[in-house]
Amino acid sequence: MSHAAMLNRHLAAAKPSATYRMIDRVAARRETGAKIISLSAGEPDFDTPAHICDAAVSAIRAGHTRYTQVAGLRALREAVATKFRNENGLDVSWQDTIVCSGGKQVIFNALAATLNEGDEVIVPAPYWVSYPEIVSLCGAVPIIISCGEDTGFKLTPAALEAAITSKTRWLILNSPSNPTGAVYSRDELALLAHPHVLILSDDIYEHLIFDGSEFHTLAQVEPRLASRTLTMNGVSKAYAMTGWRIGFGTGPRWLLDAMEKLQGQQTSGACSIAQHAAIAALTGPQSFIEMSRGVFQQRRDLAVRMLNETPGMHCNTPGGAFYAFASCAGLIGRTTPAGKFLETDEDVAIALLEECNVAVVHGSAFGLGPYIRFAYALDTDTLQGACGAIRRFVDRLKN
Ligand code: PLP
Repeated sequence: MSHAAMLNRHLAAAKPSATYRMIDRVAARRETGAKIISLSAGEPDFDTPAHICDAAVSAIRAGHTRYTQVAGLRALREAVATKFRNENGLDVSWQDTIVCSGGKQVIFNALAATLNEGDEVIVPAPYWVSYPEIVSLCGAVPIIISCGEDTGFKLTPAALEAAITSKTRWLILNSPSNPTGAVYSRDELALLAHPHVLILSDDIYEHLIFDGSEFHTLAQVEPRLASRTLTMNGVSKAYAMTGWRIGFGTGPRWLLDAMEKLQGQQTSGACSIAQHAAIAALTGPQSFIEMSRGVFQQRRDLAVRMLNETPGMHCNTPGGAFYAFASCAGLIGRTTPAGKFLETDEDVAIALLEECNVAVVHGSAFGLGPYIRFAYALDTDTLQGACGAIRRFVDRLKN
């Protein structure tokens, strides 16, 4: 029997993530001694704030090193419920919450707990790469709706209506969005309130929202949908805690119970030490959020300006997250200084890595090309250096 035949068939069919492929390419280039500026990582470049690290150290010293309840420490669930009540206006108590090993596990648990073979899940594109892959791993079918620049990369009610069938189980929404930074307004969300399907609201970039805009989440905008909405969030992006692996969610109890049952046979409760750190993050001083939002907004302004000054590229001003999603349509069909013909956005991304030492991820990996995703989680000097290198590369393209 071949190795592929020994694998689960859904896993065997899954594509390795394009972001990880880029990370591997970057590593291979670095091994040759090249100095690469990476605009491909989906994480803040800041360190986790000191008071959060201190709480983790204290937790270890106090012996909080044992298994916790599967759905999380009561104190963390209380803090999560308080966050959802105060910041999002959701009427929840600690029993209406679950803590998982990262927001990704919240999503995986919810989909794996509910999907059967052939069920459909609506995924607006451009999407975070994991959504369609997780749906497929569960044996269900991702229904990709292409949302172009004309709608600000956002799903419209008409497109949603056209995609819903009797097999639709979930709609996945993500605002601010990875990879486009698009933010849904209250009115836009209200128009997406559909009377039947479950809705996953991925709010992981909630606090990275710019220009004084207010963040909205569907269950708050449409409280009638709370009984069918899983609101997901976590500490990864808001508190620069990607490695701590703490995510959380709130939703109907039947769904949370099923997710807990699944998690109980998989990872059990999330890391006890990281849970204590997350309590400190949610209940301690919040000044880090304001600081990082201000810094990211300045970087966004710099990156968007420089990309828009680059002939052949253009970029909408994203309202949130730390990504700029720039069209590279004007580079397609041209030839690089090293003689490579640029046929696709992936060719552009590879050429940027190989010929100007800048790592980015191509838009097609997120379901929409020809675009390039720039993660501007880098200091301004480095960012300026990267955008300058891209500009010089583009100026030397041949027709
Ligand atoms: N959702 C989106 C849109 C993301 O970009 C990410 C991480 O990149 C996650 C969820 C998962 O975050 P984590 O598992 O670190 O909490």
